[in-house]
Amino acid sequence: MSDTIEKVKCLIIGSGPAGYTAAIYASRANMFPVLYQGTQPGGQLTTTNDVENFPGYPDGITGPEMMIELQKQAERFGTDVRDGWITKVDFSGDIHKVWVNDTKEIHCETVIISTGASAKYLGLESEQKYLKLGGGVSACAVCDGFFYRNQEVVIVGAGDSACEEAHYLSKLCKKVTMLVRRDEFRASKIMAARVKNTENIEILFNTETDEVLGDGQVVTGVRVFNNKTNKKHEIPATGFFVAIGHKPNTDIFKGFLDLDETGYIINVPGTSKTNIDGVFVSGDAADHVYRQAVTAAGTGCMAALDAERYLAAKDSVFEVSTSTYN
Ligand code: NDP
Repeated sequence: MSDTIEKVKCLIIGSGPAGYTAAIYASRANMFPVLYQGTQPGGQLTTTNDVENFPGYPDGITGPEMMIELQKQAERFGTDVRDGWITKVDFSGDIHKVWVNDTKEIHCETVIISTGASAKYLGLESEQKYLKLGGGVSACAVCDGFFYRNQEVVIVGAGDSACEEAHYLSKLCKKVTMLVRRDEFRASKIMAARVKNTENIEILFNTETDEVLGDGQVVTGVRVFNNKTNKKHEIPATGFFVAIGHKPNTDIFKGFLDLDETGYIINVPGTSKTNIDGVFVSGDAADHVYRQAVTAAGTGCMAALDAERYLAAKDSVFEVSTSTYN
């Protein structure tokens, strides 16, 4: 055990809209929150282009800009925002223990989990090979689309994310081929209509990926098959985008928190409470239904209020230094 154990009243894990909203509320309530950003500071919204449905932005805002604003707002009230990845937790006692990067140990009176969810991949060997090589496989069109300007790309998926990303790519790329495994979209009608009406997007229904083709360094195409006829064919492409959903980032909480079969944290309905007193959840780590920035922000607020009430009821024990308030 480390001999320099830090004690905090409120530790927030994750830096998406849920984490930063929890931080804004917690810092304004003098809970002196410490927020660890994780490996993707700003969370999933940093991979989104225009956010047009967050109330208060009539002209829209980009995801990365929104996250910078949220961080600034949290810091303005004194939130201690830190780089670092929580690698282990121990929620077995009254004081909740967490470890940062497997080394630094922190004891927390309350923990707000806002770890969100991560992109899923198909799991094909060829997909993983070119993903690791950085040779043309991506789960983020907004991050990587730029590299495929005027080129031909393939995207897998049929949900709102796939439609949004295909549409984004269509503005940069010469051609986008969209692989939909069923004979219909999962996406909302408006998003599906947008891709259907885009000239340089070709949609192949009942079509799945057989192999991502390449020259050993970069992607050169995709071999696909029709799952009704089993017929295969090759599509030339330099980019292979995967947009098939997300997995909640909750592995480190297994054994302590109640999770559903997919790994989403189960909260007490109508609250942010988990099965452990003093541990709260907000955002996509517990939400497989709405998964929106605004709902994540809403549950971040709930988590901070629930944590504040918890501390008030138990008579908080940790002394903390005054944080700065500009
Ligand atoms: P979804 O879970 O909604 O969709 C995943 C898609 O990937 C489905 O069409 C699914 O196919 C397909 N898929 C899954 N596994 C495979 C596979 N192995 N091979 C081929 N296809 C596969 O995830 P999204 O990320 O699209 O959306 C998540 C949530 O976020 C939704 O609630 C969505 O509405 C919301 N969202 C909203 C946006 C907006 O409003 N601007 C933008 C983006 C997301 P199948 O349909 O056959 O199961």
